[in-house]
Amino acid sequence: MVNSILITGGAIAGGEVSDLLIRDGHIVEIAPKIDAAADEVIDAKGMVLLPGFVDLHTHLREPGRENSETIATGSLAAARGGYVAVSAMANTLPVADNSAIVEQVAAIGKSVGLVDVFPIGAVTKDLAGHELADLGSMAHSKAQVRVFSDDGNCVSDPLMMRRALEYVKQFDGVIAQHAQDPRLTEDAQMNEGIVASTLGLKGWPAVAEESIIARDILLANMVGARLHICHVTTAGGVEIIRWAKAQGMKVTAEVTPHHLLLTDESAKSYDAIYKVNPPLRTQSDVDALRQGLVDGTIDIIGTDHAPHPVESKECEWQSAAFGMVGLETAFPILYSTLIATGRISWKRAIEVMSSAPAQIAGYERHGRPLAVGEPAHITIIDPAGSMRVDRALLASKSKNTPFHGMDFQGRVVATVFNGILTHKVDLRSVAHE
Ligand SMILES: [Zn+2]
Ligand SMILES: [Zn+2]
Repeated sequence: MVNSILITGGAIAGGEVSDLLIRDGHIVEIAPKIDAAADEVIDAKGMVLLPGFVDLHTHLREPGRENSETIATGSLAAARGGYVAVSAMANTLPVADNSAIVEQVAAIGKSVGLVDVFPIGAVTKDLAGHELADLGSMAHSKAQVRVFSDDGNCVSDPLMMRRALEYVKQFDGVIAQHAQDPRLTEDAQMNEGIVASTLGLKGWPAVAEESIIARDILLANMVGARLHICHVTTAGGVEIIRWAKAQGMKVTAEVTPHHLLLTDESAKSYDAIYKVNPPLRTQSDVDALRQGLVDGTIDIIGTDHAPHPVESKECEWQSAAFGMVGLETAFPILYSTLIATGRISWKRAIEVMSSAPAQIAGYERHGRPLAVGEPAHITIIDPAGSMRVDRALLASKSKNTPFHGMDFQGRVVATVFNGILTHKVDLRSVAHE
């Protein structure tokens, strides 16, 4: 059993170059030169050490849809992507709308032991939108749920949303809303616009997302509860959140890596790999999302890792499932689009990948600075290392990535979770690529 790791010559949080020693799950020393024996030594020259990543939006599919993903395969995908904690969405079978299921998910996550798996509880029973789930029993269960979401579905009934916000306010919980008016998006297949018209597919107007974002911001403000907007995709949505934050309202928001990179033009291929909910939008939306992440309007990157088996994606667009896997490619996309270009600093990258998601969800042992005495959750990045995405090599049980064959800079070369090395690439092979 490896219980000490010495990481030499890495840039701590993108700043000063130091050695860093981990023992028994904690960071015990940071100094220019550490002479200590360790079970494992990692040469991190030229690399950057970041606080371990936290994903607030992961679909792990277990229980019930283990043909797409299991907590074990999803945890491994997370570790490979540099994550040390993931929030598991509630749309499993059965739905995680009671204390038994959330405790089961947490227990399996713990036994796998590659990342902390924090279950998200459903807002309404069976995600049906008709009756509030037992939020209190999930909050007070062993899983200590603080984030609630019907993700996949929108909590569209405003009275239901108000009650949920009032309920979670009692224990400083947060409602994570999949903002999508169901009436405006019935049978919708992709973004409403020129491409949808050309393909003859039913469109999904931006206002279906923006109207719910606006409504829920106002509701949450009235109640005085915390609201988190999942996967913002439209320029208008960014603008509404920017306005709300300027008023001092308690709202946080996330963007996915795929919405930072891809547009509805991809759908011209008619390849259902690009079918995702919410849909890929336009270049001006992508530009606004990037700007929102840069200026703090959008708080975090959430992967919306949504594994689906091949038969659900390699079929006609209309019958294909919505979703893409994302854990293993999230950071390289962020690096290539915004860090390498200098638009966001390492400090901001740490916020969006680690400290802000931990803070929103109340994960107290995560998102901590790299300092002596802190839990050893560390992601090591090789900024010069490139990664060619090969779906066959993904740890995820599902291979539905739209990035197959694409090259990204900013490779995740190692992940340390609780002082244990959960991922490490052969560093020499990286250097020779
Ligand atoms: Zn969603
Ligand atoms: Zn989702």
